[in-house]
Amino acid sequence: MSKEENLECSFCGRKKAETDMLIAGMDAHICDKCIEQAHGIVQEEISEAKSSSLSEDLILKKPLEIKEFLDQYIIGQLETKRAMSVAVYNHYKRLLQTKDDKDDVEIEKSNIVLVGETGTGKTLVAKTIARMLNVPFAIVDATVLTQAGYVGEDVESILSKLLQAADYDVEKAQRGIIFIDEIDKIARKGDNPSITRDVSGEGVQQALLKLLEGTVVNVAPKGGRKHPDQKFIEVDTKEILFIAGGAFSGIERSISKRLNMQAVGFGASLEDDNVDEENLLQYIIPSDLKAFGLIPEIIGRLPVLSYMNPLDAKTLRAILTEPKNSIIKQYAKLFSMDGVSFSIDEDALNYIVDKAVEYKLGARGLRSLCEAIFTDAMFDLPSSNVKEFNVTKEYAEEKLSNSTLKKLKAAS
Ligand code: ADP
Repeated sequence: MSKEENLECSFCGRKKAETDMLIAGMDAHICDKCIEQAHGIVQEEISEAKSSSLSEDLILKKPLEIKEFLDQYIIGQLETKRAMSVAVYNHYKRLLQTKDDKDDVEIEKSNIVLVGETGTGKTLVAKTIARMLNVPFAIVDATVLTQAGYVGEDVESILSKLLQAADYDVEKAQRGIIFIDEIDKIARKGDNPSITRDVSGEGVQQALLKLLEGTVVNVAPKGGRKHPDQKFIEVDTKEILFIAGGAFSGIERSISKRLNMQAVGFGASLEDDNVDEENLLQYIIPSDLKAFGLIPEIIGRLPVLSYMNPLDAKTLRAILTEPKNSIIKQYAKLFSMDGVSFSIDEDALNYIVDKAVEYKLGARGLRSLCEAIFTDAMFDLPSSNVKEFNVTKEYAEEKLSNSTLKKLKAAS
């Protein structure tokens, strides 16, 4: 036997011939199999260390601090900001609860449901919370979900989005936040629970139940770099925070009906009771969601219910300039990158808000309006010698023709 063939792995003792590769060190050799095994051990250690440092990261801000963070990005919506701050605080306190806590008090999940017209900031609130916690965040649209086996996306696909957002780090994904948009669109159609097949309604709600509560799901990684050959990745949803949002349009009717009935019960009418009829959502309670068509089990698993106020002119005006990354601040930054100092007159800002209100464009419309007003300047200024750009009301009026406004309205 040649000297070469006498070589063996110093770890497992396999002869060179029994290995695919034998790598030489100073006084020892290691085979491919032992390298793989050692690599596995290292990975395991790293991920354990990571998960314990994850819980250290989670020494959490108090509700007041969470709200103050939200205040930097979100105008108004005080009730929701408070409710969210408490819910998130409790959710992460629950994560910090150690497994060997002796008492039997198990803190339940505080998943959240936000009710409010589109464009009032539901997604923004959820996204901002995720940013503060520095956890992965995914937005999914409930309307594309169908019951398993039907055309459309399985409920499990929600988790592949979160995995993607976490760059396929399962530990991280398991502490993430999922925003389920348009949850109202999977309401049961009609009051008849025995409708034979309600593929996109009750069936989806049923499928969501387990996910909301906490279960282990096999998720198809959909082309993750780190798991190219793996068919499924196991994701445990028990520590994922779910925030659901929906417009629930028409729910005011059931709120109003309920308030009327209560009022009659107490021998008073709605008006006497100082009910703010302009904003009935503020009186929403879980049973209103049930009347709308969410099944009681789903409502039970979304125990924190809050609402978004409609945006009035004053709020829209504040949204333009006040948030930390407000639309106007973003334009100012874009211009400053070309060495242009940007400013906008107060009455130009008010003009933008007036148009957003007049054409019912909401907060999302503010950006489209600004885009229409500033595009010419953003095209011309970078190749000019202009160093200052002040937007007056007249300038804004000139750029916003009626036809542009009509187009924006049609697109909204
Ligand atoms: P929703 O999810 O309720 O449909 P979004 O969160 O998508 O609404 O809001 C649309 C946009 O409007 C946001 O990206 C943000 O720029 C702006 N916006 C809405 N509400 C607010 C608010 N209260 N404070 C700051 N910006 C807001």
